[in-house]
Parts: sequence; C-alpha cells; structure tokens
Amino acid sequence: METYKYLLDENEIPKQWYNILADLPFELPPVIHPGTGQPIGPQDLAPLFPMELIKQEVSRDRWIDIPEPVLDVYRLWRPTPLFRARRLEKILDTPARIFYKYEGVSPVGSHKPNTAVAQAYYNKAEGIKRLTTETGAGQWGSALSMACNFFGLECKVYMVKVSYHQKPYRRIIMETFGATVVPSPSPDTNYGRSILEKDPDNPGSLGIAISEAIEDAVQREDTHYSLGSVLNHVLMHQTIMGLEAKKQMEKAGYYPDVVIGCIGGGSNFAGLTFPFIMDKLTKGQKLDVIAVEPLACPSVTKGVYTFDFGDTAQMTPLLRMHTLGSSFIPPAIHAGGLRYHGMAPIVSALAYHGIIEAKAVPQTAVFEAAVNFARAEGIISAPESAHAVLVAIEQALLAKQAGEAKTILFNLSGHGHFDLRAYEEYLSGKLADYEYPEELVHQALEKVPRIQA
Ligand SMILES: *Cc1c(COP(=O)(O)O)cnc(C)c1O
Repeated sequence: METYKYLLDENEIPKQWYNILADLPFELPPVIHPGTGQPIGPQDLAPLFPMELIKQEVSRDRWIDIPEPVLDVYRLWRPTPLFRARRLEKILDTPARIFYKYEGVSPVGSHKPNTAVAQAYYNKAEGIKRLTTETGAGQWGSALSMACNFFGLECKVYMVKVSYHQKPYRRIIMETFGATVVPSPSPDTNYGRSILEKDPDNPGSLGIAISEAIEDAVQREDTHYSLGSVLNHVLMHQTIMGLEAKKQMEKAGYYPDVVIGCIGGGSNFAGLTFPFIMDKLTKGQKLDVIAVEPLACPSVTKGVYTFDFGDTAQMTPLLRMHTLGSSFIPPAIHAGGLRYHGMAPIVSALAYHGIIEAKAVPQTAVFEAAVNFARAEGIISAPESAHAVLVAIEQALLAKQAGEAKTILFNLSGHGHFDLRAYEEYLSGKLADYEYPEELVHQALEKVPRIQA
C-alpha cells in the first residue's frame, strides 16, 4: 500500500519555534533609524509592537517557547498534513519523490495564522485593545482578523485597493470575524489622503497600506501595528511548519535534497525551510533551497541588497534587504501576496551569502503549473503557492533528465478558492505576462536612501 499523506497527532505539535538567528554564520546587519543613521533600540519600536515581540526580533536563543494559549488556537488546524504528490510524480513520469506541506487547511486557507495568532496573543497580554495592519490579497487580513477575534482585540485592515475590488470575499471573511476593512489608499489617514489627492485611481500597494496602518497605530495609545511577513519574529513563528515537516519527512523515511517556497515577504519560505537550513548550517547537511518570486516583482533576483524603508511613506526603520525601491509599485499580478518591493532581512542575507538561491518566474507558467497540479492532486493552489509548484515540477523534470531519484519538498502555503477569477482568466487564454518593469524599478532604486552597508 502506498502512503499519500503523513499526519501527526495533536500532541506532536512542536512546543517551541526555531530562531535561525542563533545559527547564522554571519552577523545580520542592524536595523537603522532613518533620522540618526544609528541602529534602533527597543524603545523605537515600542509604539508599534509589544515588548515580547521586540525581544523575539533580536533574540539569539535557538528555541522560543510557544505560549499555551497560542498552542490552543493552533490545535484548531495543526498539525497540518504533509502529502506525497504521487499522482503528480506519475504524470511527470519522474523518478523524483515530491512532497508538499499543505497550509491551506487552516481556517483562512493559508500559513498566515501561524504568526497572526501569536501576535494577537502577545499584544493582548500587554494590554493592547486594537491592532492595525495592511493586507494584499486578503490572506493576512483574514488571518489577523480571526486571531484578533479569538483574543478579543479590535482589528482595522488597510486592504490594497486592487485586491479590495478583485477579492470581495476576503473582505467579507475579515468582516465576519469583526474587523473593519478599508481600501488603501484610504481617506482615513493623512498619507492615504495625500495619495488620493494626486491620483484618485491609485491601485494601492503593500508599501502604501503599511504606511497607513503604521500612521493609524502611532496615533493611538491603545493601538499597535501588526506585520504579516518580513520581520524576524514573523519568520520565526512560521517555523512551526518546517518543524512539523521534519517529523513528517522522518515518518516518510526521506530527507529532502531540495526545499522550495515562494517569496513575497519571505515568511512561508522561511517557515518551511529554516528548520532544514539549520541542518545545513550546524551539521553540514547537503541541501538546495530555492526561493521563487514573480518576474513582475523580482526583489531578490533583480533588486539591490541595501538599506531601504519597509513602506512607501518612509515611516519604518531602514532594513538591509533585497529591494526594488520602496517607492516601486509592482504590477497588479494575481499573486497579490507576492507584490512587495522588499524581502525579509534574514532571507535576503541568506541569498546574499549564497546559502539559498532565488528564481523569478512569469505568471502564465505559474498558472499552467497550478492547473496541472490541481488536475493531478485535486488541490487548487493559491497563485502565490503555485510559484513553488512550478519550480517543484521543474526540479522533478530535471531529475527525470538526470535519472535521479531526488527528494523534493515544497510549501503549498495556501489554497486558491478566492482566486478563481485568476484561474478563469488563465483557462480562457486571457492571462498575460507582465514584463519585468525595469525602468520603474530603476527610478525607484534612485530614491533609496544612501546608507553605507
Ligand atoms: C501571503 C502569502 C504568501 C506570501 O507571503 P510570504 O510572507 O512570502 O509567505 C504566500 N502564499 C500565501 C498563500 C500567502 O497567503
């Protein structure tokens, strides 16, 4: 009998997150205050985040305990399954073994609640009443809305305007959990109003929505801000996926030769891969790790590794990361969750030091892979996750050419049940590729602050 999925019991949920900062073979560059040019301290972040998350952001402890109330919420859907894509293997006629970790089983359909629940918990524990955030395609907003609901917090979501109109169902999910959702740029903040005055049809971007959510949060004592990706503590919360996957791969009797994830801000990629990269860093394990990004927003493959703002209004501290320029507004590709100008500092540094590699792919190839995957495995993947599906298929075909029985593991970070309009466009032959917007990126990079790296 062939095994298709590897499950864990509820009591096998990892009780700690893995902090890769303990094992990096290089110093992560400091976060810089744009005014002073000096590294920031905890007090600079205190208006935005609870102290416990600020501590996690800079902690060098390898393992951080997951609080019991967070585990209680995780138990609603965790551990998530690890599948072996046997039907896909047969269709590709490859000797490769393809495994995927499936996060689409969470209540909101993606990996994002893994950190949303933790962030809502720590804010509640420190007496905060209300969280603000941004959302692109709506996955992060849905996750945080659900988490806020569980912990009795108010939630205000600035949703990138194109997605607000393209994906009304995600807005309704957020509202069902009790959140307030506005299209960004919105008339609710100074920054939003300033953009709307110049350009009433501005489609919005994650960078703009982040600026609005931060502006809102700093103006109120009872309010903090919550970010769904990029930051060290967010990536760490996501390692629950990779830690589970390691146990599941052990049950399957294989260790991956290659681990793959898509990258928007880097959190699902980090969450699956860091616990495996730990073996590479601490035990010399041989392992290829591939981050996949859209050709229309290729921060790692075409961006510059430098200090830049995390948002468009230049309100955040400066992070050293791969960036296309914080003023760059990416084309409206369907993988809304991958439309971000920057990349997590840790993921950027790993790429810069050659510990992981990155690859950019066009959206028509991504949807072709997504449809083939759906027909083989029965799961309609999120357009974001389908970037990883495409590269997993490419790897399986390379293994076939080489006659190698390689083991491939990728992150299927979410389902695409609210992205069906994109599938419809692909199926009716209307989906177009966006060229890499070289000139716009060039202009945005000109405006990046000049800080000596
Ligand atoms: C948000 C999202 C992404 C991209 O964000 P990362 O922080 O890079 O993981 C990828 N996949 C899904 C399903 C998402 O919701």
